[in-house]
Amino acid sequence: MKTLLPPEFKIIRDEAKCIKCQVCVRQCGFEVHTYDEEEDVVLSNNAKCVACSRCVKFCPTSALNVIKNPLSYRENTNWRQEVIHDIIKQAETGGVILTGMGNDKPYPIYWDHLVLNASQVTNPPIDPLREPMELRTYLGSKPDQLVIKGKHVKTKIPPQVPIETPILFSAMSYGSISLNAQLALARAASEFGTLWNTGEGGLHKELYKYGSTTIVQVASGRFGVHPDYLYAARVLEIKIGQGAKPGIGGHLPGEKVSSPVSRTRMIPKGTDALSPAPHHDIYSIEDLAQLVYALKEATNYQKPVCVKIAAVHNSAAIASGIARAGADIIALDGLRGGTGAAPKIIRDNVGIPIELAIASVDTRLRQEGIRNRVSLIAAGGFRSSADVIKAIALGADAVYIATAALVAMGCHLCQKCYTGICNWGIATQDPYLSKRLNPDLATQRLINLLRGWSLEIKEMLGGMGINAIESLRGNRLHLRAVGLTQAEMDVLGVRQAGA
Ligand code: SF4
Ligand code: SF4
Repeated sequence: MKTLLPPEFKIIRDEAKCIKCQVCVRQCGFEVHTYDEEEDVVLSNNAKCVACSRCVKFCPTSALNVIKNPLSYRENTNWRQEVIHDIIKQAETGGVILTGMGNDKPYPIYWDHLVLNASQVTNPPIDPLREPMELRTYLGSKPDQLVIKGKHVKTKIPPQVPIETPILFSAMSYGSISLNAQLALARAASEFGTLWNTGEGGLHKELYKYGSTTIVQVASGRFGVHPDYLYAARVLEIKIGQGAKPGIGGHLPGEKVSSPVSRTRMIPKGTDALSPAPHHDIYSIEDLAQLVYALKEATNYQKPVCVKIAAVHNSAAIASGIARAGADIIALDGLRGGTGAAPKIIRDNVGIPIELAIASVDTRLRQEGIRNRVSLIAAGGFRSSADVIKAIALGADAVYIATAALVAMGCHLCQKCYTGICNWGIATQDPYLSKRLNPDLATQRLINLLRGWSLEIKEMLGGMGINAIESLRGNRLHLRAVGLTQAEMDVLGVRQAGA
């Protein structure tokens, strides 16, 4: 069937600048550019372009540019280009439209409607360059009270995990991303003093040495879960849901299940890795409690257990149940959370923004007097240090980042991760493509990002006259709303700016 889809993007080649070096031909895994030897000309197929920008960045003479195809459809507010494009695609394939990365729809971004406080005359600001600022955060359940006799604490304290900045790398599995990408995340977390997360794909044997800064996931597919995997980790995470695709399972296509991926996941090579939507042994909070305690028992009660859920309408009630089920940490993943592959219709229409979820979960746990029982890690599209500090003021203990980490490594958000072809060497198992990501450089870029954001958080804290991130946690008086309705402010628990 001849496709009726017009190209989404248009490649502009400046022939005066092009030296026919064919760098673009070699760099594009989607085979957009070809060299015609007979005519001695470089040609480009707009229809194959995904706007990953690899050729643009690597063209030695800056001869290339990629723009959105301006004339593909007549303008129409209701029948937008994307809507028509999806209908044509489904009319031609009869399938579910897949996508990668996070929700890109124009839902309100509440971070951009919240502003931070700053000290002026009384309680003056602190200069973070000259005075110590504490970003260290302890993840884990805190006791209701401490019994101290003499110089000794008699209360049994559950396992605590210190992190030097309230920013962790979120779950991205080996299989969905390359080993080089995971290696960079593991090294950067280890060198900076924070944690990275295996995702649901198991732990590659080369990464066991980073176990002390690793969160390992136990997901419904139980890929790669065995005693050594659990012992190696610092934190165990039960994955119930994911912000990009709440309520549905995972699917790693067989083409991405290479020999090392199959060994790490403990599944046959080339077979699709399907994680069911539910854990088939969890249908209640009591069932969840059994798995929490099975994991604690298996690791001698030495490791905190985290339960990760997608942010949905009743997250607050679910979080209360999770805290009561004995979890030490709750990870809450919002509407804009990324993914290697998800049905587009789910990614773009299911779940709630993380800002509202953090506020409602923190409020509920405080109202029930159990906020101390769990640490709260928020996830889902954190873009800057300002988003992070606002999340902490709303009530999170720390934040998971994934998309920002990938962008730091070179990702250009083309959303084609599900194809297995990533021209930046990140979301691929193709040995030719994955070699493009230099793990040493990627590690340095991730460390730089963590350092930059941490310095900025210290600056903002200092400006508020606060010298420890601990003192800001859940202190919503340091936030004010700009341009929100009363209903939105009520959920967020913040006052109107000027009030
Ligand atoms: S990389 Fe640039 S200079 Fe080289 S062939 Fe492609 S467009 Fe021409
Ligand atoms: S990871 Fe690669 S394929 Fe995925 S959005 Fe980024 S550049 Fe594109």
